[in-house]
Order: sequence, then C-alpha cells, then structure tokens
Amino acid sequence: MPRHAPAPGKSAPAFRGPVRAAAAALAAGLLVAATPSAHAAPSPGDGECEAGYVGLTFDDGPTPEYTVPLLSALRDNGVRATLFNIGEKAEKNEPLVAAEKEAGMWIANHSWSHPQLTKLPEDEIRTELERTQDLLKKITGTAPALFRPPYGNTDATVKSVAAGLGLAEIIWDVDTRDWSGKSAEEIVEEAVTVQSGEVILMHDGYPATIEAIPAIVENLRSRDLCAGTISPITGKAVKPADDGPSAP
Ligand code: ZN
Repeated sequence: MPRHAPAPGKSAPAFRGPVRAAAAALAAGLLVAATPSAHAAPSPGDGECEAGYVGLTFDDGPTPEYTVPLLSALRDNGVRATLFNIGEKAEKNEPLVAAEKEAGMWIANHSWSHPQLTKLPEDEIRTELERTQDLLKKITGTAPALFRPPYGNTDATVKSVAAGLGLAEIIWDVDTRDWSGKSAEEIVEEAVTVQSGEVILMHDGYPATIEAIPAIVENLRSRDLCAGTISPITGKAVKPADDGPSAP
C-alpha cells in the first residue's frame, strides 16, 4: 500500500486533533521550513505503520500521582497503551480507571494485590484475578482480555486459572527497568530496542517514565512503527480494531 493511502473503506484520513497537532509539531521540528499539510506529518493509523506495531504497557496503576500525567503524555504523543491495573488500586481510584478508558487505553488485569501468584493456592489465585476482573468490568463496561502476573511470575496453575477466566497471559519482550531508578534517557535507550510485534514493559509510577514517552514515540515513528493493541490470541502487538476516542 502507498505510504499515504487511506485505509480501505475510508474516503479520507480521519485525523484526530491531538494526534495531528503532535505530528505537525514533530514534523516542524524535524523538517526545515516544513509547511504542515494533510500529508506532511506521520500519524499513527493513517497508513504510516508499514513496519508494524509494538505494545506499550504500563503496570501497577492507577496512581493518584502519575496516571493523569501519564495519560496526557500518551495522548499528546498520539499513542495508545495497555494498562495493567492492580485491583486494590483501581478500587481506591475508580475515576482514574474511567479516565484511562476515556483516553483510549486498553485496560488489563494485573491481579488484586500484586502477590507472587505462584506461591498462592489455586483458589487464592482465582480470587486475585476474578475480583480484579469484576471491578474493572464494573468501571469500564468491558471485561479485560489480558492479564499480566506480577513480576512476570507464572506457572501452569496461574495460566490455567487465567485461561478459565477468559484471560490471556501477557509477559513482555523489552523490560525498561524504569522501576529501578533509571533516568528518562536510560528508559528510552531500553525501549527503542523493541521490534515489530513486541511488547515493552513500563510502569505507572515514575516521572522518568512519563518524561521518556516523547522520545520513545519519536523513535517508533522514525522506524514506521506504531503503538498497537496486544492480541489475546498471539500475545503480539497488532493494529487496533478501532481508532480510539475522538479528541474533545
Ligand atoms: Zn507489577
């Protein structure tokens, strides 16, 4: 498909406000004397994703301190991410979960209390996942399809409990180690090693992670990669089924 061809069935590219503004700003910064026009700037979802999709994921939210600025950074840079929420934090911050959904993010299950699930008996594993599932469905209207075990620790029992609840287990391909006091530059350095189809692990909880987002997105765009959703079938990042919410 030509670079700028509209998606099949669309008569014209459906630019969204912040995406277009962010893309235009990016182009203006990169091109000398660039005149923004409908075809001047790369923008995800408009046929500019020839190299494929990667999954941006943020664990351990929602947090009163960081979820709102994280969502702003994602929206300002025109990307959507998968947010693996902790049930007990979601219960204390229901409006933030609603805001995540509203911002076009995919809401996923990261257990109720963030334990090492492999150390729990099966019925407690089920409670950890089911309680979170029920709450997230109550808040967003949709039951999550994806689950990430805390610390990536899993085994056959955890997998089978998750599968029994209709949840696909998603780990990650690239760990930015943003939780370990890394600077934004260091987080970017790790994140940009991601390849098409792969999933990047980050967290809702660190200013440096939020600060890293513009450079990560700029790198992805320079490689014709877009931020996608994660397929529960393959565990790979893929093209989103919808364009997400319109700009306010
Ligand atoms: Zn976690």
